[in-house]
Amino acid sequence: MKTKIKRIVSAFLSVIVLVSPALFSSCSASRDEYTTFDFFALDTYITLKLSNTSKNGGHLTEEYLTDISKKCADIIADVDAALSSYNTESEVYFLNGEVNMLLSPSEIFTSAYEAAYSVNALTDGAYDYTLGALTEIWNVNGGGPAPEAEEITAALTHTGSNKFTLAGDSVKKNDPDAKIDFGGIGKGVAAQRILEYLDSTDVKYALISIGGNIGVIGEKKDAKTYKIGIRDPQKSDAVIGYMYIPSGFISVSGDYERFFEEDGKKYHHIIDPKTGYPADTGLSSVAVYAQSGASADALSTALFVMGLDGALYFYESRLIPFEAIFVTSDGQVVLTPGLGEENFTMTSSDYKLVYKAENKK
Ligand code: AMP
Ligand code: MG
Repeated sequence: MKTKIKRIVSAFLSVIVLVSPALFSSCSASRDEYTTFDFFALDTYITLKLSNTSKNGGHLTEEYLTDISKKCADIIADVDAALSSYNTESEVYFLNGEVNMLLSPSEIFTSAYEAAYSVNALTDGAYDYTLGALTEIWNVNGGGPAPEAEEITAALTHTGSNKFTLAGDSVKKNDPDAKIDFGGIGKGVAAQRILEYLDSTDVKYALISIGGNIGVIGEKKDAKTYKIGIRDPQKSDAVIGYMYIPSGFISVSGDYERFFEEDGKKYHHIIDPKTGYPADTGLSSVAVYAQSGASADALSTALFVMGLDGALYFYESRLIPFEAIFVTSDGQVVLTPGLGEENFTMTSSDYKLVYKAENKK
């Protein structure tokens, strides 16, 4: 048991270590252009980078930036208090307990619920915020063990968006055993709320990275894009390449992020809501770029469940606008048609880069 937990922790840490060095790496090295703050919250490591320059080109004091970072930490704490499944004081934890409704949910809860409901409907259930009964028995964060088939079948009967109703000033539980799990959207919600706040400050540009969810805002001195490293799912300390994006959000879902091993088989944390088992669609990771943090986060989970063909079909529907980079378990890197050479540079020779015929070059 001990080694399993260790493996989970080290796999998880590597996500952070890897994403970080690539960020802002095109900044001038002549003097520090930004200040970095690190936190641990939402069950994950968080990095905030704030430009030392104001919107009109002046210098921002350390005191000003520290105050901003504290406000960001407060935003994260508020999101945690609303959406976390682990925080025993949270609204989700309360609703998942022995009650049949949550009265006067916070604005964070309501807006996350509405975003989750919408992505659930648009993705035909591939993203499902009502998987709590299932994710609880899988206990991936706790290192398993894998549940019995009968337990999975039973838990599946307590999932589905019809198990809850958000109406007026309450969220009603229509099935006493149903549980909400906002683990696939909460970090994106937090990243989005932080960027909304940062937009109202005097910071010229900023980046927030919350466990695989990155939000960037503003323009740097000599670049309109941010350089984001995309982790190699097979190697914990390597990137497959770099993505270049303007302001917006990137969310990565991967089978390497949280998992446990049992009898030589790997069980990761992204569950296919149709089968109740970890999604097995030939993808190792999906990085989604979108203008909403909540959508990017929920979509990365949904596209992972859909698999490459399903995800590309969904892309064509344009129900939710996004771009994505898929890494398949057989060594391909596939870009959605809206991404061209200027948006992604491959650095690993272990993968084959596949442009769709219609990709802009
Ligand atoms: P992410 O890392 O954003 O892909 O989110 C994965 C987390 O969301 C898991 O740890 C679960 O808490 C939850 N989850 C797992 N499978 C799904 C799914 N199909 N839809 C929504 N949430 C999920
Ligand atoms: Mg997600």
